[in-house]
Amino acid sequence: MTLLRASSILALAALAGVATPRAAASQTIAAEYRDAARRIVAAATADHRAWERLGELVDRFGNRLSGSVALEKAHDWILAGMAEDGLRNVRGEPVMVPHWVRGRESLELLLPRAKQMRMLGLGGSVATPPGGVRGEVLVVSSFADLEARADEARGRIVLFDVPFTDYGATVQYRSGGAVAAARAGAVASLIRSVGPESMQNPHTGGMRYEEGVERIPHAAITLEDAAMLHRMQERGERIEVLLRMEARTLPDAQSRNVMGELVGSELPEEVVVLGGHTDSWDVGQGAMDDGGGVVAAWEAVRLLGELGLRPRRTIRVVGWTNEENGTRGGRQYAADHAGERHVLAIESDGGVFAPLGFGFGGSDAAYEIVKEIGTLLEGVGAGAVTRGGGGADIGPLMETGVPGMGLEVDGTRYFWYHHSDADTLDKLDPDELARCVAALAVMAYVVADLPEGLPR
Ligand SMILES: [Zn+2]
Repeated sequence: MTLLRASSILALAALAGVATPRAAASQTIAAEYRDAARRIVAAATADHRAWERLGELVDRFGNRLSGSVALEKAHDWILAGMAEDGLRNVRGEPVMVPHWVRGRESLELLLPRAKQMRMLGLGGSVATPPGGVRGEVLVVSSFADLEARADEARGRIVLFDVPFTDYGATVQYRSGGAVAAARAGAVASLIRSVGPESMQNPHTGGMRYEEGVERIPHAAITLEDAAMLHRMQERGERIEVLLRMEARTLPDAQSRNVMGELVGSELPEEVVVLGGHTDSWDVGQGAMDDGGGVVAAWEAVRLLGELGLRPRRTIRVVGWTNEENGTRGGRQYAADHAGERHVLAIESDGGVFAPLGFGFGGSDAAYEIVKEIGTLLEGVGAGAVTRGGGGADIGPLMETGVPGMGLEVDGTRYFWYHHSDADTLDKLDPDELARCVAALAVMAYVVADLPEGLPR
């Protein structure tokens, strides 16, 4: 509605001969690239090539934790595919990444009744002693609740049963739960998995320790089991569990950022970079997080090449490594390419569900332009370009002043599957993924081709 009104105001202004410079420039951009955008959208949505390619990636290599053989084999496969597609300057740039290995793990409810519980150790956690940690459970609802009951936590296993509000808030218990529990004298800590819905699937993810605070094992259980333990405590029942984890951190491993290019026709040294991260947690298939983002960006660039749409500036597709437990790929990329002029960085790491548009981080002048480009994507539902956006992998580039944007999608189901065994290809829709490809391709192409570039 707002967009319709904006365009009719522009039309009226044009009829009346009123020319504000911005309106004139905007109209030119939208009009200039309408045909190219139509061609891109038609080609991207004509088949399910991205979904098929993603299926090959995740079925062939499975999940891809940093340091795993699967991740490096996936990198080899991506590089071979990019070369086959005719992308230029296809290469892997070395990155040293953390190497955490889960090992065997289990959680047994001993009291008030025996039950094997589904669990996932959190990434970076230490192991338990070989025989495991047996202890009485104290269920708390928040950090404040733990503080209030600190005298009960000593020697116990603390469970944070914290309902999901939004990711940023609830993830604090995953990242900082072990430190808070250890400070209170707990011997291990558990969290209710970070997600709004559950079908008995625990969710893993990163966590941290702090210098000077004892490192205790830290794991996630399902929403269902967390709620059950909480009910048991409220009934005054004694709860005991046995936690066993063999997790260990090995020396850093060799990995790569993988990339290929569509070289610009006039200003090849200026770059629009887009991509996602190739690594995933060691569960599920890493299809949604973030194989889909990598493949959508890759397909977007392949498609532009196939259509013979060669922009003035270079478009580079990158699969960043180690987003999940280090962000070393994003940081290494920013360091390796600090001497280049990046016009824009685009990341897709919110799942390749129905695209809604982009979140943009950059100057007001640049925002006006990318918002106008967004109107070319209204047909695929991805026309909304909003203020504020980016991504973990492009964060280090954005800190140096490069404008950045993240693909925005319908995230309703994202945290149902996130970092769990349920992150598999079947959760993604081939048509929605195709529309993500269209959105990325149009945005990257137009920005890379703008006669005057995107202002900082
Ligand atoms: Zn991700």
